[in-house]
Amino acid sequence: MFSKPCLSELETAYLAQALAQGHLQGDGTFTRRATALLCELTGAPSVLLTTSCSHALELAALLVDLGPGDEVICPSFTFPSAANAIVLRGATPVFVDVDPATLNLDIAKAEAAISDRTKAVSVVHYGGIAAQIDLLQALCSAHDLALIEDNAHGLGAYFKGQHLGTFGDLATQSFHATKNYTMGEGGALLVNNVEKYASRAEILREKGTNRAQFFRGEVDKYTWVDQGSSYLPSDLLAAMLTAQLERFDDILQRRQYIWQRYQIETADWAHDQGVVQMMVPEDCEHPAHLFFLIMPSVEDQTGLIDHLRARGIVATFHFQPLDSSPAGQKYGRTPEPCTVAHDRAAQLVRLPLYADLIDSDIDRVVAGVTSYRVRSQR
Ligand SMILES: *Cc1c(COP(=O)(O)O)cnc(C)c1O
Repeated sequence: MFSKPCLSELETAYLAQALAQGHLQGDGTFTRRATALLCELTGAPSVLLTTSCSHALELAALLVDLGPGDEVICPSFTFPSAANAIVLRGATPVFVDVDPATLNLDIAKAEAAISDRTKAVSVVHYGGIAAQIDLLQALCSAHDLALIEDNAHGLGAYFKGQHLGTFGDLATQSFHATKNYTMGEGGALLVNNVEKYASRAEILREKGTNRAQFFRGEVDKYTWVDQGSSYLPSDLLAAMLTAQLERFDDILQRRQYIWQRYQIETADWAHDQGVVQMMVPEDCEHPAHLFFLIMPSVEDQTGLIDHLRARGIVATFHFQPLDSSPAGQKYGRTPEPCTVAHDRAAQLVRLPLYADLIDSDIDRVVAGVTSYRVRSQR
């Protein structure tokens, strides 16, 4: 197995409670509890649960008013949802290369890609390790661009003690079953620029209606006031998320323990074989969402994956660069070749990492990795 949700009796108990309460639609008591936990954890001033991270990214694209002719800078090495959100508004993703060590957006190249059509920068914190987010903030304010953080990997991640997802105007989280904390399918939008986006975010998420204001008694009827859709998850799913977030530290500690063991126990092998381990820059704390190795070549990427598969261990590559993907070529613009993204995509191998991985499994993965011999010329 490669990833697996970490479930306990608490999820079952809260799901049963949510069913018994009978309020199955969104924005019930468990939605409020999960939302409060997310505010507390991240420090974000305003959080809205959504049906997915992809939908939170779509909400962000609606909120920054993207339209035809607008451009948004994003890294080539990211999940398709970041680009889809832009394309669905008729705007153009502009793909930029990444840093060879962190695989996060290359800031100098992002700056060079700014045009008079650029309206926003959409950035991912790969593996929950911060992109150069302080520099990005400065860049965006200098050019009057909105900053969107896709923090799907980074719940529990910090840069200089500040939680990721609180630097941009808007940020997104994912609670997909493959993420550290899950509700099966789900996500959240973090609204940090409250003045500009908070009240509209609430409306767009509720079918373009002012229903939330109505329930707070601020208006006496609710009606259609803006464009929007239905991005509210059921309170059943929020119940599951509440349980996961209440178990936050336990899940985090176990993941960090596994990550540390991989990092320490593959270090000598990596050094001998010319394999590069994950690099965690100063000031970054990450929540052990993933563990990757950078192999010398694509031959050794396939080589290690096959070697592990033969030992019953599932390891895998990750994102395929968006700039050269079929949809990326159709809808995007790529001012400069994204050579680093292409090289790294062909070198990266991720090891299985989930909280329920037991110590003998970790031993087996380490033994599998360190028994591999690099084939390509170095
Ligand atoms: C998983 C993931 C998404 C999509 O999340 P969903 O909740 O499945 O929509 C978006 N961006 C990144 C970086 C992801 O890893």
